[in-house]
Amino acid sequence: MDKAEIDLILREKTRQAIADSRCKWRERTGCPAKLPGASITFMGTGGNPEAVIGQRPRTAGFILDIGDLYMWVDPGPGALQAAQEENIDMGMLDAIYISHGHIDHYAGAECLIEGMCWAMSARRGLLLGPRDVFEDHPLISEYHQGDTGKSGYAGGPEVIYLENGKAIEIKGVTITPQKAYHGSENYGFVLEYKGFRLGYTGDTNYIRTYRTSKGIRSVEELGIIMDFQGIEEYRQDIKDAYRDVDVLIANVTTHNAWTHRHITTLGLPHLLEGSQVRKVFLNHFNYCCLEPEDLRETMARYVEITSGIPARAAYDGLRVDVREFLKGR
Ligand SMILES: [Zn+2]
Repeated sequence: MDKAEIDLILREKTRQAIADSRCKWRERTGCPAKLPGASITFMGTGGNPEAVIGQRPRTAGFILDIGDLYMWVDPGPGALQAAQEENIDMGMLDAIYISHGHIDHYAGAECLIEGMCWAMSARRGLLLGPRDVFEDHPLISEYHQGDTGKSGYAGGPEVIYLENGKAIEIKGVTITPQKAYHGSENYGFVLEYKGFRLGYTGDTNYIRTYRTSKGIRSVEELGIIMDFQGIEEYRQDIKDAYRDVDVLIANVTTHNAWTHRHITTLGLPHLLEGSQVRKVFLNHFNYCCLEPEDLRETMARYVEITSGIPARAAYDGLRVDVREFLKGR
């Protein structure tokens, strides 16, 4: 082939590739029909810096497919790769929920927004998060918040600021943010759909003080809790918020470390005590839950034995059908 022939082939193949891509994204007109869903897909179950760096477990959050709502919660840096591996059509997303502005919870959001908004060509989808993610020194660019005017792109999401206790309705599903205690502004939530209630704790502390053989200690004293005889003071509002949910996704992080910022599996059974929770998923695992030994099943066993509530450790790629909790409602 001479230069002219190569040039012609490249022109034609490039034209065709762009046309194909435009059909898929920029000129997309809708989504395939979706049956009302009732599932959780854990896209990535890791948390904290070591999991972000090593992606073990992946830091990608989870997808809720509930009724007509298809929402990705807390997409960390592994979200885009997880979407490819799990064959997720990001163009079907109705909403992206960011609980707080830490990298393991938001850093994948901009990529997902490009998918949700069909390569930034469609005005569609909701972006939910705390005010400090969007204002002053925004973690999500103004472009990805929908200010695409100067760029030549017309698309983008609608931004909704989360407020404690202020319910948001999306496609017949109600989401009520619940304040979490973890540093910056941060919200878990309770989701309700036809009587089904699902709770997500987000990252939050729970134990405030605990009994030891030498007296009561505060979790403000950083460190690993070894001498633990029981919880003395705790976050009553967190316990109350998730008391009546059917399914709870709890960001535990570890068994007995970083308790000043996380529930831990020392705290979770106490949170569950006296609740209506029918199933709890342990999520947001630190590296020390996997290396050098995988402790996740043991952590779930501890929670189940201590609380009497079925507990399961979430794994990357785990899809859980929650239709059983919709029955008879
Ligand atoms: Zn965090």
